[in-house]
Amino acid sequence: MSPTEHPAQRAVAAAEAHSAHNYDPLPVVIASAEGAWMTDVEGRRYLDLLAGYSALNFGHGNRRLIDAATAQLERVTLTSRAFHHDRFGAFCAELAELCGMEMVLPMNTGAEAVETAVKTARKWGYRVKGVPDGRARIIAAENNFHGRTTTLISFSTDPTARADHGPFTPGFDIVPYGDPAAMEAALDAAPEETVAVLLEPIQGEAGVLVPPPGYLARVRELTRARNVLFIADEIQSGLGRTGQTFACEHEGVVPDVYLLGKALGGGVVPVSAVVSSEEVLGVHRPGEHGSTFGGNPLACAVALEVIAMLRTGEFQRRAAELGELLHRELGLLLGDGVQEVRGRGLWAGVDIHPSLGTGRQISERLMERGVLVKETHGTTIRIAPPLVISKEDLEWGLDQLRAVLAE
Ligand code: PLP
Repeated sequence: MSPTEHPAQRAVAAAEAHSAHNYDPLPVVIASAEGAWMTDVEGRRYLDLLAGYSALNFGHGNRRLIDAATAQLERVTLTSRAFHHDRFGAFCAELAELCGMEMVLPMNTGAEAVETAVKTARKWGYRVKGVPDGRARIIAAENNFHGRTTTLISFSTDPTARADHGPFTPGFDIVPYGDPAAMEAALDAAPEETVAVLLEPIQGEAGVLVPPPGYLARVRELTRARNVLFIADEIQSGLGRTGQTFACEHEGVVPDVYLLGKALGGGVVPVSAVVSSEEVLGVHRPGEHGSTFGGNPLACAVALEVIAMLRTGEFQRRAAELGELLHRELGLLLGDGVQEVRGRGLWAGVDIHPSLGTGRQISERLMERGVLVKETHGTTIRIAPPLVISKEDLEWGLDQLRAVLAE
């Protein structure tokens, strides 16, 4: 692309020329954002129905989060874990309490939290469960998305995520998602060597797939009976999105390990964490695992504010109430260009009839109408607005979808 004076084209051309093409963004160039709205370099406003893949549950520029971050920026931002800092203990204690757990191991990105959980579960298997050295196995589900590291894509079933990235890490078994009998069979194939079951309580990237009622509770029973850890990856589903603090709560399930990320950093800084019991996280000894930025003062200050906001229950309530409206309205589109709607709270996977275009094309048409979403697979679009979105804005966004489908 040749250089141009047009600011949006210039920005896109620079990205095309100088960034690896590992994403295929919509052709919109955002310059600022507030609440549920983003503004591009030409001053055009867009309703954000993606919320940074649920990292922006509390909205863009949330005043409480910006104030907490700004105050911390002025004090101290990084100590490394070579020293204690005055936000770290409070962050770990308050996050553990929010989760009803005992200990926290902070990292930065979601993938790092899942990596940390894999290492922790293996170590727990060898040191506590008594698994023979090198034999630990972890069961994961088909169509999972847990992140992009070499180990995590080793048990991905998405060929695009895996292509040309091998050789892969061994030690993982894959079962169909939502099938308790398949889970039981996989557990019983090697109960002494199985250290963990790793699941998203709702599969986000797969298209917001909600497992059948009773599935998570059955997995909980099966894992408990076999002394196998149940690791819930709530990196996308957790922290208010579904109308509860954790998606597991909809089934009254308490896993052994929560994995959190995305919204934990309020869309301001990357903050992720493994949250569990002393028995599980207590297996780590100095030098065995770590991260320079994990649990840094800025991250802890922002996350402490996130935890305080979640404690009020306000965001969970909003997600539940507006989620009812979202699913009711989307339900009315069934048969009118929409083939299926899934999800919980302010989170929906919408399968568009293929005759109307690909998910990408639908996303582009919505963009032209001032609404930003992103396809997940093929003809599925995901709707996950910031939880601070107003009822009127959500209704307006749905009007735009209705108009696109009718075009
Ligand atoms: N786990 C789940 C369930 C996710 O949805 C994601 C990202 O979408 C990740 C892990 C990885 O998080 P990150 O992109 O921060 O590494």
